[in-house]
Amino acid sequence: MEQLRRWEIASSGISLLGALLFGIQVWLHEVLTSLAILGLGAFLAGNLLAVMKVRCPFCHHFLGLFGPTGKFCPYCGDQIKK
Ligand SMILES: [Zn+2]
Repeated sequence: MEQLRRWEIASSGISLLGALLFGIQVWLHEVLTSLAILGLGAFLAGNLLAVMKVRCPFCHHFLGLFGPTGKFCPYCGDQIKK
């Protein structure tokens, strides 16, 4: 399931970058800058992407924000990773 893996990486990467941008901006300026808001937006967008795309290819159940923890879907038991 290469596609699932790609969405997992993309969504967690976007979330992480957004959270970092938000954290750095707030830390540096101690107020909400427009870049901080952009970071927050990216973080939420990454999470939303995960909710929409990181799903079991068989039963389409959401597998968690940072992807499935095991090789098998916890809902239907099908193998989702090689
Ligand atoms: Zn499933």
